[in-house]
Amino acid sequence: MTAESSSGAASPESPGRSNFIRDIIIEDIKAGRNNGRVQTRFPPEPNGYLHIGHAKAICLGFGLAEEFGGKCNLRFDDTNPSKEETEYVDSIMEDVRWLGFKWDGLFYASDYFAQLYEWAVQLIKAGKAYVCDLSADEVRRYRGTLTEPGKESPYRNRTLDENLDLFELMKKGEFPDGARTLRAKIDMASPNLNLRDPVMYRILHTEHHRTGNEWCIYPMYDYAHGQSDSIENVTHSICTLEFENNRPLYNWFIENLGIFPSRQFEFDRLNLTYTLLSKRKLLTLVEQGHVSGWNDPRMPTLSGLRRRGYTPEAIRNFGESLSVSKTNSTVQLSALEHFVREDLNKRAARVMAVLRPLKVIIDNYSDDLVEEMEAVNNPEDAGMGTRTVPFSKVLYIEQDDFKEDPPKGYFRLSPGREVRLRYGYLITCTNVVKNSRGDIVELHCTYDPATRGGTTPDGRKVKSTIHWVSATHALDCEVRLYDNLFVKENPSEVEEGQDFTANLNSNSLEILSGCKIEPSLQSAAPGALYQFERLGYFCADPDSGSESLVFNRTIGLRDTWSKIEKREKK
Ligand code: ATP
Ligand code: MG
Repeated sequence: MTAESSSGAASPESPGRSNFIRDIIIEDIKAGRNNGRVQTRFPPEPNGYLHIGHAKAICLGFGLAEEFGGKCNLRFDDTNPSKEETEYVDSIMEDVRWLGFKWDGLFYASDYFAQLYEWAVQLIKAGKAYVCDLSADEVRRYRGTLTEPGKESPYRNRTLDENLDLFELMKKGEFPDGARTLRAKIDMASPNLNLRDPVMYRILHTEHHRTGNEWCIYPMYDYAHGQSDSIENVTHSICTLEFENNRPLYNWFIENLGIFPSRQFEFDRLNLTYTLLSKRKLLTLVEQGHVSGWNDPRMPTLSGLRRRGYTPEAIRNFGESLSVSKTNSTVQLSALEHFVREDLNKRAARVMAVLRPLKVIIDNYSDDLVEEMEAVNNPEDAGMGTRTVPFSKVLYIEQDDFKEDPPKGYFRLSPGREVRLRYGYLITCTNVVKNSRGDIVELHCTYDPATRGGTTPDGRKVKSTIHWVSATHALDCEVRLYDNLFVKENPSEVEEGQDFTANLNSNSLEILSGCKIEPSLQSAAPGALYQFERLGYFCADPDSGSESLVFNRTIGLRDTWSKIEKREKK
């Protein structure tokens, strides 16, 4: 089912990353359940953008269907019209496609509203559902607690006819929001609170993004979900652990309706350090303007990660590396970053860029000579070829790569010291020019013409190689440097009276202007991936155009965060 899919139907013995759901599927196939058919689904609610947590569920659901030659549907769980929007539907489809998965069927729970209504009537007729006039608050109070049984609703024993009439009037819009609900008649003393006469339908006079004003009663998640699975003949309905206690209710509806017995299996949600994975909280960040939108490159949304320069392959490799278990845990953000670096290392074109420029004048280089130096595009992939980079008398290097008084162990440029310019020549610093305030404004150097390409014919050693760009040829650009959006490993952990926004990192975005990049990036298309040599992985932002180039730092070359953490923990 992935774009690169090559496997057809797999046999139960075929290898694959082992997990308990996969083991169940293998057992089911062996036992001939559903004639060996495997069908899963990914059921997002279109109330926000997908995040990296959803990627785990997507990799699992689509991955298992693919491995066993089955199907995986995309189904929008759109039963709550007040929070759902077409914008979210569109973004979810785009993100699943971007990850490289193809759904078999595209469905909406709202496709099933008529069928669900008929089944509700069927349950009323069977004496298994009733219209209840208790308010939402009262329903909650009557429900009891984990240690006390609930109390039966005074409306529980309405006659079938009265229930049928009232339910029809609910549908016709005769009652205001919240006036009545339809509830399943199960067991107010059940140890599982979900079975204490759960609400099946609520009245909500709200326009739905697909069904418009056709309905003013909407099914609850628990009433819609299992039946939607069943309608689609889903064999393995995979969801996260918080639904474990809903499984008995999932089964109750299916059994009492006598419909296709889809089965639910729960696995652990992905949690990541320094990251919030909750659409509701991410929406708050967008609405309160803490980020520029759902696709802000600091967001853990798939659209944010995409804009940041994360590749679908990296996210899928991460997704497939995750354990699938019955206990929730938190994964280090550096684990995700590992897969991003690993993939970008193979894919990103190397270029030279100077983020904080310092001018270098090579006194003994001819004024108008320009040499085209050959540079390798990717040492990991010879197929990516070479390019040329112009070298001339005036260059820029990083301010960091020069120190007037170099500390011990600093081998980059300093007065009298020789360094190698990558793909260029060896240069020696001869003079430092400062302004009246004492700031360094430019350096004067000499070069050794015998060292073209960085070679030393006499075998002398230079300890450092630095990157550079030619001042007259370099392009100006803006570079956006990102850091974790939150300062706390667990951003939900707050002092009393605070919310998670108290943990926002006020330095999560640094914008550098006047950065200099080599001219080959003139036509960098938005999304194009690069390694700025020695600096990290970067990609062209959608804001980037021929007028002004903008690059996002995807990630540094090395994991600096976990080093900082280790230091702090010492
Ligand atoms: P959120 O809390 O972010 O709104 P959700 O669970 O409400 O997430 P849904 O749209 O209902 O989001 O999720 C679709 C599917 O993705 C569900 O099966 C859900 O279990 C799964 N999913 C959501 N978040 C995660 C996560 N962090 N890790 C793994 N799976 C997830
Ligand atoms: Mg949800």
